Amino acid sequence: MYPSKFDYHRPSSVQEAVQILSANPDAKVLAGGHSLIPVMKLRLATPSALVDIGRIDALQGISRSNGSLRIGACVTYDEIANSSTVQEAAPLLAEAAGQIGDRQVRYRGTIGGNLSHADPASDLPAAALALGATLHVTGTGGSRAIGSASFFVDLMMTALQPDEILTEVEIPAAGAGTGSAYAKWEHPASGYALCGAAAVVTRNADGSCASARLCFNGVSSTAVDASAVGASLAGSDLSDGTIESAVNDNLSIPDATGDMFASAGYRQELAKVMGASALRTARDRA
Ligand SMILES: Cc1cc2nc3c(=O)[nH]c(=O)nc-3n(C[C@H](O)[C@H](O)[C@H](O)COP(=O)(O)OP(=O)(O)OC[C@H]3O[C@@H](n4cnc5c(N)ncnc54)[C@H](O)[C@@H]3O)c2cc1C
Repeated sequence: MYPSKFDYHRPSSVQEAVQILSANPDAKVLAGGHSLIPVMKLRLATPSALVDIGRIDALQGISRSNGSLRIGACVTYDEIANSSTVQEAAPLLAEAAGQIGDRQVRYRGTIGGNLSHADPASDLPAAALALGATLHVTGTGGSRAIGSASFFVDLMMTALQPDEILTEVEIPAAGAGTGSAYAKWEHPASGYALCGAAAVVTRNADGSCASARLCFNGVSSTAVDASAVGASLAGSDLSDGTIESAVNDNLSIPDATGDMFASAGYRQELAKVMGASALRTARDRA
């Protein structure tokens, strides 16, 4: 299948890109193209124009300063998975990015495209939520920062306005005593997550739990923060039994997805297994 006809723009700055978006209300941002091009070929999306942001220097690069990791929106999964800066400051993100698709997808797909597309089965939204990421966006009205908890609104829907571009992802760098893990149960054919569990655990000097976060992809229309599980673990001994009880007693996925791949009940149970597994690994790494 071929996409319908479209104009192609290749701006060299974010300002130029948002001006083009604002002048063409049904234009689409093109980043890695690994979600947008397939839906255009299927004619599920027929934008009149594409705004290719891949050559904008301001959207590239990974840096760490003042306790924060900053990743440009056009940084690829491969760069993230193999960056020593990301591996040190946000190992969860590197681990999740390294499990996306195949090598070809990881070379082209971008963190900005992944988060903006907000596919419920994508691997990065749960990691962004668990890490307390801040999404920096720019539109014709200026720039603003959106917390990841407010960014993911619903199925493939984010807080981005039509003339806004996600420019940068900011993540607080991991502190001492913190461990994390991403556990993915993938569909054997597509490789997408039937359930992906992202856990971050911080331990006190005596080994007890200072804080814990557990978030999911693939189980609902949008990424889920299982905050009740994290709250129930605070102050606990983080033993295997404590983690299992915390998950079994406190994890409920509102409106769990049921489809031809897995029923809602199956996903609820899978989330418990994958969630406990991710928490145990995060504890062991803390
Ligand atoms: C074979 C295959 C396997 C895959 N497996 C997985 C997997 O296992 N896990 C997974 O998470 N994903 C998977 N994907 C999807 C892949 O990760 C995509 O790359 C990702 O969903 C979109 O990122 P992109 O950079 O390619 O964005 P694009 O496809 O270019 O854009 C996607 C959407 O986001 C918008 N957009 C892009 N960047 C921005 C921005 N900076 N600001 C505002 N809007 C923006 C676009 O307008 C478009 O609507 C797979 C894809 C393929 C083809």
